[in-house]
Amino acid sequence: MEYTFDAIVIGSGISGGWAAKELCERGLKTLVIERGRMVKHVKDYPTAMLDPWDFQHGNTKTRAMIDENPTISKHYAFDESTKHFYIQDAIHPYIQEKPFDWIRGYQVGGKSLLWARQTQRWSDYEFEAPKRDGFAVDWPIRHQDLAPWYSHVEKFVGISGNRDGLPNLPDSEVLPAFEMNVVEKHIKNKINLHFPDRPVIMGRCAHVTAPQAIHTNQGRTKCMARSLCQRGCPFGAYFSSNASTLPWAEKTGHLTIKTDTVVHSIIYDEKTGKALGVKAIESDTKKEHFYKARIIFVNGATLNSNLILLNSKSAKFPDGLGNLNGLMGTHIAFHNYRGRITASLEGFEDQYYFGRRPTQVFMPSFRNVYKQETDFLRGYMVAFSASREGWAKPVDGIGASFKEALTEAGKWTISMMMQGETVPIKENHVRLSKEKSDQWGVPLLITSIAYTENDDKQLQDFFQEGTKMLEMAGCKDLVTVDQHAIGYRNPGLEVHDMGGVRMGHDPETSLLNKWNQLHHCKNVFVTDGACMTSTGNQNPSLTFMALTARAANYAADEIRKGNL
Ligand SMILES: Cc1cc2nc3c(=O)[nH]c(=O)nc-3n(C[C@H](O)[C@H](O)[C@H](O)COP(=O)(O)OP(=O)(O)OC[C@H]3O[C@@H](n4cnc5c(N)ncnc54)[C@H](O)[C@@H]3O)c2cc1C
Repeated sequence: MEYTFDAIVIGSGISGGWAAKELCERGLKTLVIERGRMVKHVKDYPTAMLDPWDFQHGNTKTRAMIDENPTISKHYAFDESTKHFYIQDAIHPYIQEKPFDWIRGYQVGGKSLLWARQTQRWSDYEFEAPKRDGFAVDWPIRHQDLAPWYSHVEKFVGISGNRDGLPNLPDSEVLPAFEMNVVEKHIKNKINLHFPDRPVIMGRCAHVTAPQAIHTNQGRTKCMARSLCQRGCPFGAYFSSNASTLPWAEKTGHLTIKTDTVVHSIIYDEKTGKALGVKAIESDTKKEHFYKARIIFVNGATLNSNLILLNSKSAKFPDGLGNLNGLMGTHIAFHNYRGRITASLEGFEDQYYFGRRPTQVFMPSFRNVYKQETDFLRGYMVAFSASREGWAKPVDGIGASFKEALTEAGKWTISMMMQGETVPIKENHVRLSKEKSDQWGVPLLITSIAYTENDDKQLQDFFQEGTKMLEMAGCKDLVTVDQHAIGYRNPGLEVHDMGGVRMGHDPETSLLNKWNQLHHCKNVFVTDGACMTSTGNQNPSLTFMALTARAANYAADEIRKGNL
């Protein structure tokens, strides 16, 4: 073994950053191993201050970008301004037994640089769902276990939003919310009138709208609502590991970051019954290193964490570390984003809005919340926004009248989308290829994940209910689109993949206990999306952060007590 630490964290994204922060604050000498390059806050955001005309192709996706990257080029945020934060399709291939869009960011900060920053807590309606509805296994925790850690994370991150007082979307610790525009307010009022059980709220998002000392101490300041977030924010106004958790961990003096190093596997010590450390490979030189630590946090993002653990084989665990029941890699679930409805609305042509806004309007799930009431399981959140067509709108005419028409804002258009809970099933799984490996000698991941009939029914329900709500608000020109049916959206494109190393009470049916420890190897913690027993309908990353902070503090306590 070449190097020894108290803790190793694999991956420096949203969850790895939180593990590093908490462990370093607790005085543990922590090594973060990151397969990608260093990205320093501000300095390494090369496009953050560029205008469209500064880009070679006006900040679009060129034909070459699309041809070279058939998967990531489908992703809405991929363009000339962000492409350096996406892992290009050819760099780390995988085998799609069924079509799966695997979107990754391999760099310090991971996808925390790219995310859309929507954050909602889970309620007990989500934690209790598997038990109530008889799928997956019972979660070993409830909202009250996570509530103090949600608060802990939210205060540090900075969440903009309102305290809405909703039973199925518990309130967060919030900073001032963004505003709805006039058409969004109109739609909200109409929905409130006709569907009193469907509250419409302003999106809660990880943006500092009124900096507190905890944010300025991180060097972060107020959101300017530029909505250029995915390029990296020079104000540190939205939460990323780069702007927030990693520099905070660094200040403790306990953090070491090793970049450009791929974790190959975790080494298990048969004598002690614990993980000894990790085998890692320098991405350029392919030089092998062994790093040793008392505890290991696996935060490579869902599918890479599954990959690392499945590849961590030993005499006791021939099918992957801690995988005695053969369930590792199974029950992968995600969010159903297939449905979109667009519409227009007349009557507000004399009204406009000022500036941009980094979030939209939300409606928490209203299906099957209190009891089962449809022929599909679980529900979906609805998000929508209204805006006016800009100068690029279609305009008739020529010459002066054409130019004159361009200076006027166009009609109001509405875009509505769903974020549905998918039900984890065993068949939706990942496994390792026995024949093919990557340039670092790691087997390629095979993805075998597909939509189910439950997802199809949920989609039809969204079309029906969304149409009803928009029509009652007076909207016209409604168009519903199943983005999967038109060949665009496979599972994975929503970047909310979860599961494979699920939490549960029973080592026979789950991999992790209620503290995110592997049942069969207690000094290994998995706290990213891989640990999720089910997916809820909320955006997931806030829950990953809270679970990570909770597990890291538990691990530090156990080390102090001499149990780890
Ligand atoms: C455009 C976009 C919009 C999104 N919007 C939202 C949203 O609004 N709300 C929300 O909740 N979520 C959103 N997400 C999802 C969110 O980004 C992820 O849930 C979150 O980043 C997951 O955190 P993580 O720590 O598990 O993984 P990541 O942030 O991806 O970090 C994983 C890190 O591990 C590293 N790594 C992987 N394998 C290895 C290895 N073998 N060795 C060493 N290092 C390794 C990677 O390089 C990476 O840096 C969005 C994602 C995208 C791309």
